[in-house]
Amino acid sequence: MDMKKIREMFPIFREKQGEQRLVYLDSAATCQRPQNVIDTINDFYSHRNASVHRGVYELSERATGEYEAAREKIRKFINAEDLSEVVFVTGTTEAINFVADAWGRDHVGSGDEIVVTQVEHHANFLPWQRLAKKNAAKVRFLKINQDDFLVDDPEDGLINSKTKIVSLVQVSNVLGNIWRDGQLEAIIKKAKSVGAKVMIDGAQSVPHQKIDVQKLGADFLAFSGHKILGPTGVGVLYINKESHSEVEPYQVGGAMIHDVSYEEANWAEAPAKFEAGTPPFAQVIGLAAAVDFFDKYVDFDELHKYEAKLCAQAMEGLSSIDGIRFLGNKSNLECRGHLITFVVDGVHAHDVAAMLGMRGVGVRAGHHCVQPFAKLINVEASTRASLYMYNDEQDVEIFVNELKDLIKTFKES
Ligand code: PMP
Repeated sequence: MDMKKIREMFPIFREKQGEQRLVYLDSAATCQRPQNVIDTINDFYSHRNASVHRGVYELSERATGEYEAAREKIRKFINAEDLSEVVFVTGTTEAINFVADAWGRDHVGSGDEIVVTQVEHHANFLPWQRLAKKNAAKVRFLKINQDDFLVDDPEDGLINSKTKIVSLVQVSNVLGNIWRDGQLEAIIKKAKSVGAKVMIDGAQSVPHQKIDVQKLGADFLAFSGHKILGPTGVGVLYINKESHSEVEPYQVGGAMIHDVSYEEANWAEAPAKFEAGTPPFAQVIGLAAAVDFFDKYVDFDELHKYEAKLCAQAMEGLSSIDGIRFLGNKSNLECRGHLITFVVDGVHAHDVAAMLGMRGVGVRAGHHCVQPFAKLINVEASTRASLYMYNDEQDVEIFVNELKDLIKTFKES
């Protein structure tokens, strides 16, 4: 991968923050967009815009063609077996709420169990917590080891015949990689062996690693367009074909019916059954342009090594700061992921982020939507720097130097 060329394809990096270049280290929240994605959306609205699926005039037929071609690109991107397994939603949050509601309300009952990790993003926790409360089920947890921040092997019986779904984050938005070698695969296998469904929250994994849903063996996978170079307002819910008959439409309305009378209605086949109303077609077409970018310029193995190298540079640079503590596994940067989360004794995470912001460096501070975990480890707020393909050594150098300097200034004052 030509990282310099890649960076040049993101127009935002031509912007300056005062005199300084933009140091954007918040891609885990939302990433920047390459020119081809911006152009595709602009061109679509300028020259080809019409609603999909219902028009019989040329513009609409062409838009429908582009929308369905986008579905095929996503199918290939995640190696789904069938086009009907790719459902467009607004993002990861909607995708998980979709499954918790449209599958969960009829399949998770009194006394049943749902398994998640202790470090799920609220998007992959609250839908399950709410479902469990509503249907008198129970949420159980895979524990995070507080020394190495990896998942402890499940205690005996955690996944059992009462388990109806195991819903797991593939890469944590606060800790990075949390799985030991082969552990996630083993848990998926175990879940399948007791007849449970498996859902994967791919919000932080799909942008950074090659996902093959058939190899993964999950029933559901969720991810967001805005974290994989695509537009906001669109995401993907993969639903494997075997589950289609068990999943009700999440919403009912236009475009998803087979036949409606005053008394009854029945549904079209998937994916239409799962996509009520006017879909976010311009965003979907923009998302396909993002996939084109991956196909053309991104090698996931190389990207992984590149991000690990930048993470190592940052952690090495920061380790001399007195009282700094990293959250997440430190020993194996190769598999750590694309982000660094830390606290500095005596300086609040929000102050760190605000002061870095004043120096042109964008990072994130807070509980990162994993509040139960933040409470568990007694770290109410932490600062997170997250990297992506357009970051480089200079970004990391500026981040490290500015952080060191501001901590020194803060502690001296
Ligand atoms: N899960 C994880 C791990 C995330 O990082 C995020 C976004 N921060 C979400 C779910 C929710 O994604 P979205 O806000 O795009 O729906």
